[in-house]
Amino acid sequence: MLTDPFPRVNLSHKPTPLERLDNLSDDFQTNIWIKRDDCTGLAFGGNKSRQLEYYIGHAKSKGADTLLTTGAVQSNHVRMTVAAARKMNMDVEVQLEHRVERDQPEYHRSGNPFLVKLMGAKIHYYPVGEDESGADQAMIDRAEVLRAEGKNPYVIPLSNIRSPYGALGYVEAAEETLQQLQILQVTPKRFFVATGSASTHAGFLLGLRASNCSIPVQGVCVRREGKSQKERVLAKIQSVVEIMELDINIESDDVICDDRFLAPGYGQPNPPTRAAIEKLARREGILLDPTYSGKAFAAVLDALESGEFGSDDHIVFLHTGGTPSLFAYPELVDQEESGF
Ligand SMILES: *Cc1c(COP(=O)(O)O)cnc(C)c1O
Repeated sequence: MLTDPFPRVNLSHKPTPLERLDNLSDDFQTNIWIKRDDCTGLAFGGNKSRQLEYYIGHAKSKGADTLLTTGAVQSNHVRMTVAAARKMNMDVEVQLEHRVERDQPEYHRSGNPFLVKLMGAKIHYYPVGEDESGADQAMIDRAEVLRAEGKNPYVIPLSNIRSPYGALGYVEAAEETLQQLQILQVTPKRFFVATGSASTHAGFLLGLRASNCSIPVQGVCVRREGKSQKERVLAKIQSVVEIMELDINIESDDVICDDRFLAPGYGQPNPPTRAAIEKLARREGILLDPTYSGKAFAAVLDALESGEFGSDDHIVFLHTGGTPSLFAYPELVDQEESGF
């Protein structure tokens, strides 16, 4: 594996399944595959467990005993960091940011924050939502306090202040997926993936290209508009290339950041996202989330509906998880319909 030189801990069920969506493939007369990274297993699963394997590998190599991280109230990354800390027998403190304007009590009580409390993390609140470096700084300040108390804390930041060890998890996932595709004798026309902090997108794209695979990866923006997301993905790729000491150049045109399904913003679903969540739930019994995978799958449906793929073509959707946050968005179903 390309990532063999880096320390890693085991947190995920791997390889995750790569399955054909038979009903939807029939509906659209093409071949739609799903890479089930919602099934990584750690406390409801999702893409963050692959990333945390390398972050915590690095943290352990530094003798860390306490993890700190920050995220939105419904952050999957925060939930899975807490689960990973518990599994690794580490202390954990998390910071929840006021990033999404939502009045529903479920947003603050159900889904991910419920699970964070259940697993017993110490929780801090951060009153701002769009201040990535400020949020990281608050955690770094907290780490200093813990250090003075004799702890050995490790901060997993949101911004690019630490080397992007998390992206290594998706370099590995790209290699894993290519092996599965080879066994299936399938060569997809395109991969689709949600792109947020960009560790998944950058790692996956780099893992493909470093394996001499040139299949396009359509990143679907969930946090920032396309232009700034593209800069972010490119910067992350550059940092990963550096730590891996790869001799490879990813062209700017190779980084696709589709922001058509972002509005009205992070953590706020739109009609195509709701339709995508409903479609996959009702045709395949597979659950998406309204912040990430639902938006990415809206882009898949859009490409299918515009007839971009024929009966001999194959595409792969990378399901990054996030399903606990469904319970924070009760408006996704008609509460009156069933009478309870
Ligand atoms: C964090 C997250 C993403 C985005 O991954 P990044 O590596 O941050 O770009 C996508 N889907 C889900 C469910 C997530 O929790």
